[in-house]
Amino acid sequence: MTAFYETVYLGGGISCLAAARAARGDSILLERAERVGGLCKSDQVDGFTFDRTGHLLHLRNPRTQKLVRRLLAGNLGQIERSAWIYSQSVYTRYPFQSHFYGLPTDVVAECLSGLIRARQKPKKKAKNFADWVLAQFGPGVARHFMFPYNRKLWTVSPRTLTTEWLGRFVPRPDLDQVLRGALSDQRDDVGYNAKFSYPLRGGIESLVRALAAGVKKIECGVEVSGIDLKARKLTLSSGDRLGFGRLVSCAPLPALMRMIRPLPERLREATRRLRWTSVYNLNLGLRNVESTRHWVYVPEDRFACYRFGYASNFSPAMAPKGQANLYVEVAHRRGGRPLDRPGIQARVIDDLLAMGVLRSRKDVICRQEFDLPYAYAIYDRHRREAVARLQRFLRSRDIFSIGRYGSWEYSAMEDALLQGLDTAAG
Ligand SMILES: Cc1cc2nc3c(=O)[nH]c(=O)nc-3n(C[C@H](O)[C@H](O)[C@H](O)COP(=O)(O)OP(=O)(O)OC[C@H]3O[C@@H](n4cnc5c(N)ncnc54)[C@H](O)[C@@H]3O)c2cc1C
Repeated sequence: MTAFYETVYLGGGISCLAAARAARGDSILLERAERVGGLCKSDQVDGFTFDRTGHLLHLRNPRTQKLVRRLLAGNLGQIERSAWIYSQSVYTRYPFQSHFYGLPTDVVAECLSGLIRARQKPKKKAKNFADWVLAQFGPGVARHFMFPYNRKLWTVSPRTLTTEWLGRFVPRPDLDQVLRGALSDQRDDVGYNAKFSYPLRGGIESLVRALAAGVKKIECGVEVSGIDLKARKLTLSSGDRLGFGRLVSCAPLPALMRMIRPLPERLREATRRLRWTSVYNLNLGLRNVESTRHWVYVPEDRFACYRFGYASNFSPAMAPKGQANLYVEVAHRRGGRPLDRPGIQARVIDDLLAMGVLRSRKDVICRQEFDLPYAYAIYDRHRREAVARLQRFLRSRDIFSIGRYGSWEYSAMEDALLQGLDTAAG
């Protein structure tokens, strides 16, 4: 006889973990990897704790603040951001648009005069992200940061992107802040991530472990490969079948849709419209590093990465005493073609040497690399309608596709936790 659960959680990302720990009734969480956590896992390598790229907690909602404080009681640090941009061979403070100080004079003048002129013009509804940037910040900021950085991160032209994702992610400082930041090296707290929280010990996975401890039933090493909607049964990698009443999934939306058989053609078509970038991440254990920075954006095309960060500056426990833990992120979109890992790793190391982040290759003590196949859902003109159509279909079948990739959105851990809590309550 096939086993049956009222609710099956497909995937052990933090959204499904948050939902499952608050679940009522008979439920099970299935995770294909050897342990739960998804992108919020941390690995121990030669005394370093490596996250799967930097994972900082930006908690604005009282519910998540309360939950995370309770889960990480005694293990949560509060940190003031030290975020920078490396461009024109100098470091300037983040966000770029309110910190021109330190850039070559011509660049400061170009950015400042463009921004002031842009602020004086009446605003029309922007057709795309590129138009929005030009209207908000002018051509200097567009040329020296917004266009090259976002082209690198999203792997598409800024004209291809809509403005739906901007929300809290692109701060709009007032003119006073811009002028102060052009005339002096001013620290300010513009933007959603001016302060953040991070576990004192154990990396971001300590949050996952605390969440998972409250979940009744978890099975790891089990991949869901098919969803039979008529019979309301899942096919598992073992060949077993499992009946479900309600399905809550944090698997990436295109992968979830591919599991559903048969799938009407109009939904196949909507699924084909979803596009995304992947991120190659290189974690390095280093000696001879003295920076106190948290993370650095790298807009220029001459460098492969779009960002790097010092995890050991979030928490000293992330590295052995006197050593540093650095992560480097490179976005790519390869359409299934294999990634040239040795080539990209060599280029990243060369770039770190060129930027002076690394003094010598001999300072690399250990390394860990991995690829995040789904990293950023691309906000092009098709995304919104395609996602709405797929979600309507899934909801009508009692399937809840949640989390950053289930919702197919640009969002943070806090949003994933909230979606989990809301799904459990609903
Ligand atoms: C480069 C990068 C940097 C980020 N930095 C931050 C940050 O600083 N702060 C922040 O708040 N957020 C950050 N995020 C976002 C954060 O990673 C996500 O919000 C969060 O991890 C989403 O969790 P989730 O529950 O949606 O699922 P995921 O973490 O995507 O987990 C999905 C799980 O489902 C499992 N699964 C998939 N398919 C199946 C299947 N068929 N059967 C069984 N199991 C399956 C997977 O193995 C995985 O464990 C970052 C994301 C990226 C890409």
